[in-house]
Amino acid sequence: PSTEGNYCIIHYQKGYHTRNFSEQLLADLDVSLAKNELFVVYQPKVCSVKKRAVSAEALIRWQHPEFGFVSPAVFVPILEANNRMNEVTNWVIHQVCEQMKQWTSKLEMPQQISINISASYLSSPLLKTELLRAVKTYDVRPEQIELEVTETSFVNSVEQATRAIEELRNAGFSLAIDDFGIGVSSLAYLKEFKFSTLKVDKSFVDHVPQSTKDNFILQSILSLGESLHMELVVEGVETKEQVEFLSSLQKNLLIQGYYYSKPLAAQQFEEWCIEFTKQA
Ligand code: C2E
Ligand code: MG
Ligand code: MG
Ligand code: MG
Repeated sequence: PSTEGNYCIIHYQKGYHTRNFSEQLLADLDVSLAKNELFVVYQPKVCSVKKRAVSAEALIRWQHPEFGFVSPAVFVPILEANNRMNEVTNWVIHQVCEQMKQWTSKLEMPQQISINISASYLSSPLLKTELLRAVKTYDVRPEQIELEVTETSFVNSVEQATRAIEELRNAGFSLAIDDFGIGVSSLAYLKEFKFSTLKVDKSFVDHVPQSTKDNFILQSILSLGESLHMELVVEGVETKEQVEFLSSLQKNLLIQGYYYSKPLAAQQFEEWCIEFTKQA
C-alpha cells in the first residue's frame, strides 16, 4: 500500500513504456493471473449522511515479478489494444461477486461494489451474459454490482452503447458515468443515457474550496445530478476541508478518496471498514 500512487511515475522513469515492455506483460498475463500477481483492491465510498462505506470501487493491481507495481492506467490500455482486457474484466467480475457474497452477511461491509468496464466491452452482449452468470454463481443481486463507464466508451457507437446500458439496467445493474465532466460531450451523454450514478472527476475537487470558480462549477455539477435524481459520487477527495465543503453543498452524496482511504486489498479493506464503523 505504501507504493500506492508512486509506481506509475517510477515505472515511466525506468522507461518501461516500450514495445518490449508491452510484449512482456502480454506474455506474462496468464501466469500472473494464476499466481495472483494480478489482484483486486477496494476503495470505500463513504455516505455523507450515514458516515458509512455503503459502496466500494474495485480496482485492479498488477504486482509484476520483474517490473514491480504496474499502474492500471498503463496496463489496461495495453490489454485493451491486444484484445485481452475482456477476459481480465471477466476475472474481476468473478472476484468481486465472490467477495460480495462474503460481505453480504457483514453489517460493516458495503453492500455494493463497482467495477470499471472498458469501452469496447460495454457494447458486447457477452458482458451481460458474464455478469448474470457471476451474480447467479455467487448468489449476489445485480443491484449490488455497479458498472463504471467513462465517456470515451461511447464515442464510437452511441446507439450500441444506449442499448447496452438500457439492457444492463433492465437486468438490475447500476450504471455510473465515471470521470464526469472531462470528456468531450459530458452533458450530451447525460441527456442520452440512463445512468443511475454520476461520478464527478477528481479534477473538479482538486482546487476546492480555495478556488471560487471551481467551487461554483462543482456546485453546479452536483445540483445537476441531483435534479436528475442520480446518485452522486465525488472521487479524489483528499482533505478534511474538501469533505466539509462538499457536505455544505450537498446533503446526500458519496465521498471517495485518500482522505478516507487508499484502495486496499480485501483483508485490509475489511479491517478498515470495521474500524471506521466503530469511529462513527
Ligand atoms: P478510475 O476508475 O477513475 O479510478 C479512480 C482512480 O483514482 C484510481 O486509480 C484510484 O486509486 C485513484 N484515486 C482515488 N482516490 C484518490 C485520491 O484521493 N487522490 C488521488 N491522487 N487518486 C485517487 P487507479 O487504481 O490507479 O486506476 C486508474 C484507472 O485505471 C481507473 O480510473 C480506471 O480507469 C482504470 N482501471 C482500474 N482498474 C480497472 C479495471 O478493473 N478495469 C478497467 N477497465 N479499468 C480499470
Ligand atoms: Mg472508476
Ligand atoms: Mg474515475
Ligand atoms: Mg479515471
